[in-house]
Amino acid sequence: MAEASPLVLLIEDEPQMRRFLRAMLAARGYRLVETETGAEGIAQATTRNPDLVLLDLGLPDMDGLEVTRRLREWTAVPIIVLSARGQEQDKIDALDGGADDYLTKPFSAGELLARLRVALRHAAHAAKAESSTFKVQDVDVDLARRVVLRGGEEIHLTPIEYKLLTTLIRHAGKVLTHRQLLGEVWGPAYAGQTHYLRVYMAQLRHKLERDPARPQILITEPGVGYRLKGTRIEP
Ligand code: CA
Repeated sequence: MAEASPLVLLIEDEPQMRRFLRAMLAARGYRLVETETGAEGIAQATTRNPDLVLLDLGLPDMDGLEVTRRLREWTAVPIIVLSARGQEQDKIDALDGGADDYLTKPFSAGELLARLRVALRHAAHAAKAESSTFKVQDVDVDLARRVVLRGGEEIHLTPIEYKLLTTLIRHAGKVLTHRQLLGEVWGPAYAGQTHYLRVYMAQLRHKLERDPARPQILITEPGVGYRLKGTRIEP
């Protein structure tokens, strides 16, 4: 049991935050490696091969952003960044640099554990073959046949809407920044055109959401980007 439980690498210099995370993760049976600096964190990542990294953005020796970049040179391990309020741009830069998700301090135990589960599940899915069906509420997407159903009825999406949806599906449960979405759907030259995203997201919500004014599927992450709810169905 202890051997099978996921190993979390925590890179965080605040003793109080480490105590809080240590207690919470131990209670849920996670194994934990703690480090206080970026350099030590990178070293531990190479030797311990963790299942997930929790990374503080404000470290004494280097920027969390730099740690993310260095890890992404050789590993796809899920990285969840921990940021203070007012570090919005750092958070976005970390996501653009390859982090999977973020939590803004202070956060609750429940919130952290939910994000951990999503990140670990996503990593497990990515390791398997791509599954071909995605389901959320009454929406089914058959990725192989490129068919989208809502309540069993086929709905028509434009090519851009479909590409936006499948990009979100590839990263379901995780937040994607405006820059990432624009880059993947329209191309890197469009990374600043956030109004494109607003327009197409509104169209998609109109077609997929029961109440487009209160989205339950295509969630806005204020100032950062969007997150798609739902899970893939294994083939
Ligand atoms: Ca710190």
